[in-house]
Amino acid sequence: MANDNTTNRKSILVTPELCIGCRACQVACKSWNQLPAIKTKNNGTYQNPPDLAAAAFNIIRYSEVPSQENPVRWLFVSQRCMHCDDAGCMNICPTPGAIYRTAEGAVATDASKCIGCKLCVQACPFNVPRYGEDGKMSKCHLCFDRIANGMSPACTKTCPTGALQFGDRAELIAAAKKDGYGTIYGEQDLGGLGSVYAFKDEPKLYGMKENPQIPASVVFWHTYLKPLSAIGLGGVVAAAAIHYLAIGPHKDDKEV
Ligand code: SF4
Ligand code: SF4
Ligand code: SF4
Repeated sequence: MANDNTTNRKSILVTPELCIGCRACQVACKSWNQLPAIKTKNNGTYQNPPDLAAAAFNIIRYSEVPSQENPVRWLFVSQRCMHCDDAGCMNICPTPGAIYRTAEGAVATDASKCIGCKLCVQACPFNVPRYGEDGKMSKCHLCFDRIANGMSPACTKTCPTGALQFGDRAELIAAAKKDGYGTIYGEQDLGGLGSVYAFKDEPKLYGMKENPQIPASVVFWHTYLKPLSAIGLGGVVAAAAIHYLAIGPHKDDKEV
């Protein structure tokens, strides 16, 4: 199911070790995408907002770990859509064009085609898709509108430390390895992620998911049931059938 349409794959390389937790990337994303502010409350951490949301396409996860040199070691890591090559959200989506791949490798969405079935939520190994008040899925789109016009994503352009870099995927990975980053998270996972992470530590120290996988039920029904939508069953009916058979009865859940 891996993508074979990408001719010029671009990626974001995240280097958490270089991140200072300034959150300029969060602000830049909000600004470019004209996303509204989210009301939050102090919950004992500097991390804010606490999670991805329909109006928060990227967040910096803050965590504290024990350290021999300092009383505490702060870790900052950017969380966002991974732009998977083998993208569970695309595989399961019953509506043609609602989630699509751009020539540069971005996984983008077309809200006018989204039917709000939330199947993509179940299919994403990284818990990325969110739903807004309009009932449409939204997430980071790799600034496909900027990169198609020769610009870099707003978050990478703003990052002051080089913790976020944008460019040719193979070149970014090669440069990170040359700089001594022994682990490139996402280099091979799910056909190769479009957001790759360079680590010297173990990725799990930063809360990265080990061995991310698309749920087997989603793979199965992508193969055997999704084609029904293409032969006239219709997106809504196919979505309901896929959801029931692959995931179980639908439960209403609220936006985080
Ligand atoms: S991280 Fe989730 S939402 Fe993003 S492309 Fe992969 S499956 Fe889709
Ligand atoms: S690539 Fe664009 S949409 Fe994605 S997090 Fe960065 S600024 Fe936001
Ligand atoms: S802009 Fe760069 S340094 Fe600042 S929080 Fe984002 S990734 Fe980290």
